Amino acid sequence: MKNILQDLSFTELENLMSELGEKPFRARQVYEGLMKGRKISELPAVPAELRAKLTEKFEDEPVKIINTLTSADGTKKFLFGLADGNVVEGVLMSYKYGNTQCVSTQVGCRMGCKFCASTLGGLVRNLTSGEILAQVLAVNAAEGGGRRAVTNIVLMGSGEPLDNYRNVVKFLRNVSAEGGINISPRNISLSTCGLAPEIYKLADENLPVNLTISLHQTTDEGRARIMPVAKKYKISEILKACDYYFSATGRRYIFEYSLIGGENCAKENAEGLIKLLKGRPCHVNLIRLNEVKERNLAAVSKARAYAFAAELVKGGLSATVRRSMGSDIGGACGQLRNSYISGGADDGFRGERK
Ligand code: SAH
Repeated sequence: MKNILQDLSFTELENLMSELGEKPFRARQVYEGLMKGRKISELPAVPAELRAKLTEKFEDEPVKIINTLTSADGTKKFLFGLADGNVVEGVLMSYKYGNTQCVSTQVGCRMGCKFCASTLGGLVRNLTSGEILAQVLAVNAAEGGGRRAVTNIVLMGSGEPLDNYRNVVKFLRNVSAEGGINISPRNISLSTCGLAPEIYKLADENLPVNLTISLHQTTDEGRARIMPVAKKYKISEILKACDYYFSATGRRYIFEYSLIGGENCAKENAEGLIKLLKGRPCHVNLIRLNEVKERNLAAVSKARAYAFAAELVKGGLSATVRRSMGSDIGGACGQLRNSYISGGADDGFRGERK
């Protein structure tokens, strides 16, 4: 694979133009074209000779939308083709306040969570910062009609963002840079299974994104049953890292808790959560499990999810049930990619279709 031009910040692009003996103003032209999701070979105003020089070294189109599925609720799911033939997926959800895009940070994942489809084949490779950015640029170009379609970003596609730390941080800098597509860190949520040391590092990057922790259990033993990473980092260590994140950024953090039947939604789990989290500057986002065919885990009813939320609220926590979107198109991370790889029309969804 060639290098990815979208990895470069504007300053790095200026340096590249000077190395190539180009006039400085070409950097702005190239940058503006790239930020509109153009291929290098189709950059407006850039001379053919420079475009040819660039495509010699860099991928012309590092991320290409190869399939789009639209849900009855308007949610769109994209399958992105990468230059080396790998695929990752993303989702665009429309809300009153704007459109949120879910992006992938790795091809596959090595965290091994028992309920997740992304980790079934292990980690294939990290995405570069430009490959993460180009997912947003491609959706903006396809959906925006010249305007910005994406206003908010969640790093909740395939991959563990903090396991690809350097590239993810570079992506966060480039996507929020003034003069670029300029999406503020405050409109970006980073979801992690709880890599504590990287949470400390992130807190000091001056990139105040919304930190989201996938908790899914209330004890280390219970958590280790469904999330192997729990053997490495205890809940108490993760909570300490969250304290640090809050003190450094002033940002409230969020816990994700996917409700799995017979596993983590009994009364004692609600009590455990209340004990762990009461008084913390946090919110609990309850997710109804998206059933994955390779995993033998069951979702709970909507009524059970709302009752669980009510127990948490009664116990003094801020908690809501996340509206499930796009479940008819394989909304859970990894499902679309897996069905693409296995060549089947089956999207892997095993729940109740709305
Ligand atoms: N690696 C990151 C991002 C993963 S995806 C993390 O662990 O946070 C975002 C969220 O979806 C995580 O909370 C993840 O645990 C959850 N998730 C994954 N598969 C799911 C499924 N089948 N049903 C419900 N939630 C799921």
